[in-house]
Amino acid sequence: MSLIAILSDVHGNRHALEAVLAAARRRGVSEWWCLGDLVGYGADPQHTLTTCVAGASRCLAGNHDLGASGRLSLADFSAAAYDALAWTRGQIGPDGRAELDRLQPADVDGDVPLFHASPRDPVWEYVLTTSQARGALERVRAPLVLVGHTHVAAAWHLAADGAVAQHRPERGPVRLGEGRWLVNPGSVGQPRDRDPRAAWALYDTGAGTVEWIRTPYDVAGAQAAILAAGLPAALAHRLAEGR
Ligand code: ZN
Repeated sequence: MSLIAILSDVHGNRHALEAVLAAARRRGVSEWWCLGDLVGYGADPQHTLTTCVAGASRCLAGNHDLGASGRLSLADFSAAAYDALAWTRGQIGPDGRAELDRLQPADVDGDVPLFHASPRDPVWEYVLTTSQARGALERVRAPLVLVGHTHVAAAWHLAADGAVAQHRPERGPVRLGEGRWLVNPGSVGQPRDRDPRAAWALYDTGAGTVEWIRTPYDVAGAQAAILAAGLPAALAHRLAEGR
């Protein structure tokens, strides 16, 4: 049995990543997984890229990582994301882009399949509704499937009778067992559920549980770094509002 920290959507936010990794160590995790979007939006892409690639035992590429490495056109992104990605490409240089090139948006090798966005579309599909969750859960047979991308902590359960129900993380941990679970840990570096604290999840393989955790971090420090880098000010402001 082991304790595994599930991190997603770090987005160049060094302050949030360091706080979450310290909290994970205090909880005694033996390893951590990263569901992609290591870079983009935040001011420390080289740091978050290196930390995730070196430290995570499984690490995906998200749509922003594919944009930064050149595998996706930056024309596919919103204006603020475009500006941040163009800046990020220069910051991480050819070596960083090569590191991102080695990551994929899905990893279905283990008992727990990982997708940056969804099993149907690992790069772009946002799983926000129960019908989208059903589409995802019907595509995989594993008892637990992990996705990121929406920046909102969430979970859905597919029961043996075919019913799909949403579980709100604030109601506490879920116990795996009957049926299948689709779990989103939320975003480390840019939460969008009106709670600015960094979001992540703890998977206890022995107990068969997944628990959602929020970790306070130095939001002002992350904001100051974004402004000092000359990135769009909106990317700094949104961190304090959790949106
Ligand atoms: Zn993201």
